[in-house]
Amino acid sequence: MKKQRIAVIGAGTAGLAAAMLLGRQGHDVTVIERAEALTAVGAGILLQPSGIGALAEFGCLDHMLQYGHRVDALHGQTRSGRVIMQVEYAHLKDGRDIFGLGVHRAALCHVLDTALAGVSHRRWFACEVNAIEQTASEAVVSFQREGQAHREAFDAVLVANGSASKLRPQALVRYDRQYPWGAMWLVRPLTASLASLDRPHLQQRYDGSAVMLGALPTGRVPGDAGTQLLSLFWSLPVADMPPWQSGHFDLATWKNQVAALWPELSPLMGSIQSATELLPATYRDVILSRWGAGRIGVIGDAAHAMSPQLGQGANMALLDASAIARAVAASDDWEGAWARFASERSGSIRFYQGMSRLLTPLFQSRITGAGFVRDLALPISHLVPWLRQQMAETVSGRKQKWL
Ligand SMILES: Cc1cc2nc3c(=O)[nH]c(=O)nc-3n(C[C@H](O)[C@H](O)[C@H](O)COP(=O)(O)OP(=O)(O)OC[C@H]3O[C@@H](n4cnc5c(N)ncnc54)[C@H](O)[C@@H]3O)c2cc1C
Repeated sequence: MKKQRIAVIGAGTAGLAAAMLLGRQGHDVTVIERAEALTAVGAGILLQPSGIGALAEFGCLDHMLQYGHRVDALHGQTRSGRVIMQVEYAHLKDGRDIFGLGVHRAALCHVLDTALAGVSHRRWFACEVNAIEQTASEAVVSFQREGQAHREAFDAVLVANGSASKLRPQALVRYDRQYPWGAMWLVRPLTASLASLDRPHLQQRYDGSAVMLGALPTGRVPGDAGTQLLSLFWSLPVADMPPWQSGHFDLATWKNQVAALWPELSPLMGSIQSATELLPATYRDVILSRWGAGRIGVIGDAAHAMSPQLGQGANMALLDASAIARAVAASDDWEGAWARFASERSGSIRFYQGMSRLLTPLFQSRITGAGFVRDLALPISHLVPWLRQQMAETVSGRKQKWL
């Protein structure tokens, strides 16, 4: 396509990466973000081999490696110490030298933003977009800036404003609901007293399907070169979150529950003074029929939000950015670009949406027997080489279809 005026709404993983790649193609890119600046908000996320491959393709991997913590395996066990989950990237067909990275969301955004700074673009922060209208020849974005309403016309708009987006075209939305379960999370320094957690593993502990605790080494954040971090996730129904935030929560009982489930976390429990130090995360399940129509495209969580059980969100956002840039470069018009994007991405998006819906109740629900089935089936699958490899492929983010 000849030079286009493109608005990218949202400066998260998907928006920053797409803006950078489209800027490199010479398009006139404007990033519109409601936050005033990119700050160290968020928790640790697991970059899978698929996301790491995308960062390498963007020329950003060396920078990301300065912040991330290497992850070689996902390891989960029950309260009694029985190993339920043991997925290793080494089980991939080409598994040698393939790894994941635990990173803080702020570090990932910093790396992408540094690359974006190298291309000509406009950035409008502290601007909340509230509507997008389109005609045959342009898309008009309405936003608030310093209490004033503004409108600006573009040739096309990429909606990349996350899972709770109200900007994705409603005609494309097939399904959009909040998951009944989320997580309380916390980020803390990975101190010497937590040495058993300083391993190249995402670790989880389970008690049935209603109790799950996860710990991910999260690497470092920009501006604090010395401190390695650890992210902790406590699975919880969304309906049970309010007492944590209001302070009407029995923290001591919870700490005892955690200590019984995972004694090595006791030093970290000692550092928590109030339940309000843990922050709530909720998830959505969003299915679109297509990811673009007319002059509006949708990428990242806005396009396919899912539960984080398979740890794919940021990876899929990076793959979307890569695919949309290729589609725009190869197409003569926007409908052609959406069609090319769909043909490259739909297999993977549909697979991970399906898997995530299938697996989430086994880890986050009160369905009778769900934990029992999981605890029986997963260890058996580790014994079958083909299944072991399929599990590693799934977690790595590289699956394109069911078989
Ligand atoms: C607890 C938790 C754990 C997770 N673990 C993992 C994991 O292990 N692995 C993994 O890959 N992913 C994980 N994720 C998900 C991951 O963080 C996201 O999937 C990923 O960052 C997708 O990025 P995005 O750019 O689509 O959206 P976001 O990162 O949500 O960015 C959207 C941006 O749009 C901006 N915005 C929103 N509305 C507007 C508006 N109206 N106008 C202007 N700007 C707007 C927001 O401020 C934000 O900056 C996890 C998420 C949570 C909550």
